[in-house]
Amino acid sequence: MARAARARRRGGGRGRVRQRADGQDRPAGGLGGHRRQRPAGHVPARPRHRPEARRLVDGPLQHRAGAAPVRAAPGDDGRRHGPAGRPAAPGAVTVTTPGRHNPRFTGYDVLARAGTWDAATSGVVLSRTAVQPGLRFFTLAEEATARPLFDHLLAQWDEPRVPVLQMVDARLAEMQTDGWRFADMPEDDEAWRRSLAGLDDDARALHGAPFGGLARERQAALVRAVRDTGSARWHGMPAGHVWGLWTRYTATAFYSHPWAWNEIGFGGPAYPRGYVRLGLGLREPWEVADQHPVDPVTDSGQAVGSRSAGAERVGTAGHRAAPPRGLAAAARAAAGTLRLTTAPTGRIRDRNASAWLLPRDDRRFDRSLIDGMRRHEDDDEVDLVVIGCGAGGATLTQRMARHGWSVVCLEAGPFWNPDTDWVSDEAGSHHLYWTEPRVVSGTDPVPLGANNSGRGVGGSTTHFAGYAPRFHPSDFATLSGDGVGADWPLRYADLRASYERLEQELPVAGQYWPWGDPHPYPHAPHPVGGNGEVFLRGAAALGIGARVGPVAITNGRFGNRPHCVYRGFCLQGCKVNAKASTLITHVPDALAHGAEIRADCMVTGIELDAQGRLATGVRYLREGRERFQRARAVAVAGYSVETPRLLLNSACRRFPEGLCNDFDLVGRYVMVQGAPQTSGRFAEEVRAYKAPPPEVSSEDFYETDPAKPYKRGFSLQTVSPLPVVWAEHVAAQGHWGEDLRTYMRDYVHWATLGALCELLPLPDNRVTLSQEKDRYGLPVAHFSYSQCDNDRMLIRAAQTVMEDVLRAAGATEVITINRYAHLVGGCRMAAGPGSGVVDADLRTFAVPNLLVTDGSVLPTQGSANPALTIMALVDRAAARLAAGARSGLRAPAGAPR
Ligand SMILES: Cc1cc2nc3c(=O)[nH]c(=O)nc-3n(C[C@H](O)[C@H](O)[C@H](O)COP(=O)(O)OP(=O)(O)OC[C@H]3O[C@@H](n4cnc5c(N)ncnc54)[C@H](O)[C@@H]3O)c2cc1C
Ligand code: SF4
Repeated sequence: MARAARARRRGGGRGRVRQRADGQDRPAGGLGGHRRQRPAGHVPARPRHRPEARRLVDGPLQHRAGAAPVRAAPGDDGRRHGPAGRPAAPGAVTVTTPGRHNPRFTGYDVLARAGTWDAATSGVVLSRTAVQPGLRFFTLAEEATARPLFDHLLAQWDEPRVPVLQMVDARLAEMQTDGWRFADMPEDDEAWRRSLAGLDDDARALHGAPFGGLARERQAALVRAVRDTGSARWHGMPAGHVWGLWTRYTATAFYSHPWAWNEIGFGGPAYPRGYVRLGLGLREPWEVADQHPVDPVTDSGQAVGSRSAGAERVGTAGHRAAPPRGLAAAARAAAGTLRLTTAPTGRIRDRNASAWLLPRDDRRFDRSLIDGMRRHEDDDEVDLVVIGCGAGGATLTQRMARHGWSVVCLEAGPFWNPDTDWVSDEAGSHHLYWTEPRVVSGTDPVPLGANNSGRGVGGSTTHFAGYAPRFHPSDFATLSGDGVGADWPLRYADLRASYERLEQELPVAGQYWPWGDPHPYPHAPHPVGGNGEVFLRGAAALGIGARVGPVAITNGRFGNRPHCVYRGFCLQGCKVNAKASTLITHVPDALAHGAEIRADCMVTGIELDAQGRLATGVRYLREGRERFQRARAVAVAGYSVETPRLLLNSACRRFPEGLCNDFDLVGRYVMVQGAPQTSGRFAEEVRAYKAPPPEVSSEDFYETDPAKPYKRGFSLQTVSPLPVVWAEHVAAQGHWGEDLRTYMRDYVHWATLGALCELLPLPDNRVTLSQEKDRYGLPVAHFSYSQCDNDRMLIRAAQTVMEDVLRAAGATEVITINRYAHLVGGCRMAAGPGSGVVDADLRTFAVPNLLVTDGSVLPTQGSANPALTIMALVDRAAARLAAGARSGLRAPAGAPR
């Protein structure tokens, strides 16, 4: 496929496996007046250049300038009294609700709360209710097929319709995709064109008429046939991937619209107000009770989707790594918690004042820190260049700036302004993700995009969930202890102090943690919402230990950071500043101590001296111009895909197969946690969208159980998907059309748990360079991934336990999707160069002044979320670097040699 240097985004989705179902649409009434003038068959030109990293791209899923005016104000109770809305007048923003079709939450109108939303969020959400611009991507012929296809996928037959056709068209015109694609699929725009043509061909071949001209039943049969074709090829593409493409785009569009939120009782954007009534059956005064809480699926006798089919019952019974119990342990736990939660914060501020450098007013970042930032010339030989400003890169930048090093951190994405750049909206947060092209393959390919890495200052931590568990001591020696995986070149004890420091700086809130190395947390546990209550109830019934936390979310004021307001949009960037991200936990202090963070700078290569012995600096692109920053040391922190890719793209005479790749280890042993999510349906209203998704977790199943047929284990956590992700969940069961809508109307009754399974490091799970080039002319990353038998057993076991927990809590029905989370590895640390790329101090074996300081250094992944461990490794490495722990380093200018 020709796509070298094509400037655009590509698409894909988040959850994988059985992709989600559908949506459908038809144009909303009143849109006809804006129909574009295009000849039939005309294919609009694709943009030659991908839009530069814009903060927010205009389009139905994105920002419009400022908040759109609200035309009609519903009553104070949030209910819209009177007839359902009408088609919008051109140029006007309508606030309409198809209430007559909403027997579940009668009269509920989320738009009644629009006046309480922040301006950035209002601008994005209300633009979807405005008259949509004419189509820019679909040709007239494609539109004739897409329009009824979307109707079927979403069973959207009545006016006013959510303008899904226009929303999908705008996304494709902007190439606002997730960047990755399956190796056996074309890019999203081409896949859409080919699949619509295929549907039309099928219609003509079977019925002698175009798809758009067929009766509804015949259209439905053709659509169903694509779904039922499964993994077999259909018009040259795997049908399952086509189905995933269709359902991903249409469900995202539909369930990002306020009318759809009304239908499912979702509270919508919740900033700055947040929620106060958390817990099962509790509602804010303006939320409307479900009028028909009986499960509509079982009530109607409709066949329910797959549940735990095929899952081996190897989970709940038997072994659990029992946390220490007894009076003495409880007393120690209480004393430890009291000591930490009441400790003065002065000592934290002395080593990292970030929380105190944030504004005290209603702004989220002090821009004067950026304006007054120290700036270096490219010709200045700085002590350290850091590539990437995420979990690892920002921590290293702050630590080394504190040590007095001159540091420049080059970040490919923008310097976020949370006030204006972030919105409390799923579809509107697309710009937070790394969406440069990537290709995925293998027997169990890993979808990337939203669920993997981020971009911009803060990296993936801007939209990470905020779970902050430590790894267990057993994680550091799985080869010796369990006969699988790898041993780390350091032990848990080497990281304990770093863990403690970072837990104070983030800070982490949670109950005393009884697993692994038992320890208290500096902030008390948060109150839990409905999802957390369900987990605690089910776990208690089965005798499984479950605890509240650990989350990097303030519980109480910390410096100038306020308390969490339980609004549930942690994965869209916390506009409150309650959830930690390195943008607010380490960057302010780094700037205040002389670091330069140069945003919108894409590093394209690392240069060595003439002998190929030492790194001399990095090549990077800024505003379309290639530049070179000189440095005495270089640290790569671009994430587990981009870091190996950059090293492989930096091949030179001494390292013809890629920098530091003399043992063919760069890019190998990339890992991802198996992350199945299981949802249970409850008679009570759970309203899982209230409170942060990370609430409660269990590490009872973390370590190897000798009684089980697999090695290592998994952790369990609440996950609480918002509507778009929940639609993916339901669609992954194969539901579409009316079936999907029926499940979705039940949204407030579902609770969801997620597992993190420790899948094993395998050498062939690797990042290599594809033939395809990106917009900079660089080969893109190709990530191939396949599971082993141990991995599959572990995932099945975790699924079984989650289903048992939800049923024990009272679920009448459970459904599971398989997915992945958290890529790590690819430049693993080891005791020697024959088995890894870096040493325990994160310095590459091959080039003494080149470090790798991100998640790619992990030799195994445990079943804990990785960010805290990445930061702890960097904290330790920074101290060792400052102390000149190994010979061969080019010492910082001015330091004693
Ligand atoms: C939806 C989601 C939820 C998550 N939830 C959790 C959680 O609850 N707990 C947890 O511990 N972890 C979580 N994670 C994972 C966690 O965020 C990552 O493991 C962690 O941030 C990785 O750190 P890193 O330093 O390796 O990379 P990142 O934090 O991703 O930082 C890499 C940075 O490098 C930049 N970059 C890349 N290439 C270049 C280049 N060539 N030039 C310049 N800059 C470049 C990127 O723009 C990015 O800013 C979550 C991740 C996601 C996506
Ligand atoms: S931490 Fe999450 S729930 Fe709390 S205020 Fe921030 S986004 Fe909302």
